[in-house]
Amino acid sequence: MARYRCTDCGHIYDEEHEGKPFIRLDKDWKCSFCGAPKGAYEKMKV
Ligand SMILES: [Zn+2]
Repeated sequence: MARYRCTDCGHIYDEEHEGKPFIRLDKDWKCSFCGAPKGAYEKMKV
């Protein structure tokens, strides 16, 4: 499982916590905090 960080607001998408791989999210999924698109997220190094 990986974690992704919103480069706009710093929100962390934790795949293990969310129970869904980031790449499986709808392409129009947005950050629930700032509304940034998926593309604003970057994969975090473990
Ligand atoms: Zn955000």
